[in-house]
Amino acid sequence: MKLIAVFSASHETLKDQWFLRTLKDDYDVRLRRCDVRGPGSYMQEDWTQTILFKCETIIDAIQKYWDEIFVYSDVDVAFFGPTKSAVLESLAGKDIVCQLDDPSGNLCTGFLALRANDRTLRLWQQVRRALERERRDQIAFNRVAREMDDLRVGYLPVSFFGAGTFAARHVCGRQRFYVPDNPVMFHANFTIGIPNKMALLTQAERIIGNGASVRRVNNALFYMQTRTRTSPVEALTRQDKIPKRSEQPSPEVHDRGAFTRPRSVTLDLSTACQLKCPSCPTATGAIARSIGAGFVTLADFKKFLREHPWVSDIELSNWGEVFLNPDLEQILRYAYRRHVVLRIDNGANLDRASNRVLEALVKYKLRSLSCSIDGASQEVYSVYRVRGHFDRVIAHLRQIDRFKKKYRSPYPALRWQFVAFGHNQHEISKARDMARELGMDFYLKLSWDDLYTEPFSPVTDRNAIARESGLGVADRRAYETKFGRSYIASTCHQLWLRPRINFDGRLLGCSINHWDDFGNVFAEGLESVLAGDKMQQTKAVLMGLRDAGEDSPCRRCQVYASRRRHNAWVTPDELIVPPVESPLRRWATNTILHRPFTALEGLSHRIRSAL
Ligand code: SF4
Repeated sequence: MKLIAVFSASHETLKDQWFLRTLKDDYDVRLRRCDVRGPGSYMQEDWTQTILFKCETIIDAIQKYWDEIFVYSDVDVAFFGPTKSAVLESLAGKDIVCQLDDPSGNLCTGFLALRANDRTLRLWQQVRRALERERRDQIAFNRVAREMDDLRVGYLPVSFFGAGTFAARHVCGRQRFYVPDNPVMFHANFTIGIPNKMALLTQAERIIGNGASVRRVNNALFYMQTRTRTSPVEALTRQDKIPKRSEQPSPEVHDRGAFTRPRSVTLDLSTACQLKCPSCPTATGAIARSIGAGFVTLADFKKFLREHPWVSDIELSNWGEVFLNPDLEQILRYAYRRHVVLRIDNGANLDRASNRVLEALVKYKLRSLSCSIDGASQEVYSVYRVRGHFDRVIAHLRQIDRFKKKYRSPYPALRWQFVAFGHNQHEISKARDMARELGMDFYLKLSWDDLYTEPFSPVTDRNAIARESGLGVADRRAYETKFGRSYIASTCHQLWLRPRINFDGRLLGCSINHWDDFGNVFAEGLESVLAGDKMQQTKAVLMGLRDAGEDSPCRRCQVYASRRRHNAWVTPDELIVPPVESPLRRWATNTILHRPFTALEGLSHRIRSAL
């Protein structure tokens, strides 16, 4: 039986050190080299070229070896036992069998066996055509394979597995993955870059080579980390055919582990704001009408942390002004005592804040605070931040700085966020200098153009903004033209990585959607809402696997419109779970690192006050 493999220069080492070295059977190996240069990273130009080459190689092979059975394999694969008999057994009565890619039933095009016949030829020809538009073979392959009624398609057993077969999450080289009984082939996918692939292959070899007890320990630790049950996956591969999209396994197995028990969330402490920024939906009243104007209460915050003990990092800001929340000080204290990291990175105007709250930010170690200040003088600042008081904001920042000195704490790290408009572009340098003097990072953000309403005060000195933004563009339209995706495309990733919860518990998913919700986290629990059909379907929409139905919140969003325009869908490699502080680090930060200083400083403060 022929074994066909394609490789490029970036994968040469994988081919020699893993694929060929570990091959067990007497396959008639046919290697084809694709002459492209590049790192071979997912969706990069050289990767796409290699995928096209692979597709054409398979079509050629089907035509050349008509009526034969052959195996196609990527070279980021290692073998731990003979595979030929299992391949032939799985292929009985079928046209093509593939390694299971992920628990939702997707087929992997990285390792498969097929009969060269008219059905498999049509399949790959259609995939080849789709590739020119979509640039990803696997999504096209899974769609076309399900659309072809006469194609007999199935899975290889789970002894052929990849890093995402049991939990569809991206892993870096040292992260754990599940290893089934009697593994014969491991595919180092669901990771990015050659070093990570090598590390995964090394890890697989170590676990499998050290026998059943090491494998069991690995799998127990994997379960503790991801809470992923593997029996549904094993049952899936035993089915005689693949499920159609409509009958795919319940969402419960689709996206578990890291994505339904996220460590990071956004909990919008306030959807009310006292300012009247011209193009902000909060200021126009649109937010109050759609999701209500209100605050997270201390009682709800406590309940949320108690019921979701795995959440350890919370962003507090989105639509409203956090500092208006009357329970903010107690919320900061409660989270600090539970060693949960809080941050205000989306932005606050900091126009109103009591001294007690400013001290609490430092005392309870809010990790970071981004302050929206679009000007370096009251006159310019208040053009957009209507009703805002520039001097008061700066005074609050100076006060935070004084508290940081008092507590000898680096927290919160401060950032000055400056939205570039036509009316404030001349004050960028001055604002940058002021930020430096206040010990703040400075971030220039492109204005939201017409995201919410008509463009407000568009920039006129386009060269300067293009330079200052560091992106070579002066507004979001130019960004989209240059990069082929929306400036805020990554907002969609929040559904997976940092889902956003409204003050009343409704899960809105991302920081843009205020039209619809996915369920109520305070009532149903975060895990259950994230695993729900609506969330799973929305994720499939964002990955380009289905169209947004009438009931999809994304249907009304300009980011979704941009994704459709550019055929730019969320890819698995974008969904890398951001690192969060470990429990030990959180504990140390809150109890050791600054407490001696805090205690001493507090004592000296009291003595000085008494004197
Ligand atoms: S497309 Fe959907 S997930 Fe993405 S930003 Fe818009 S509403 Fe949010």
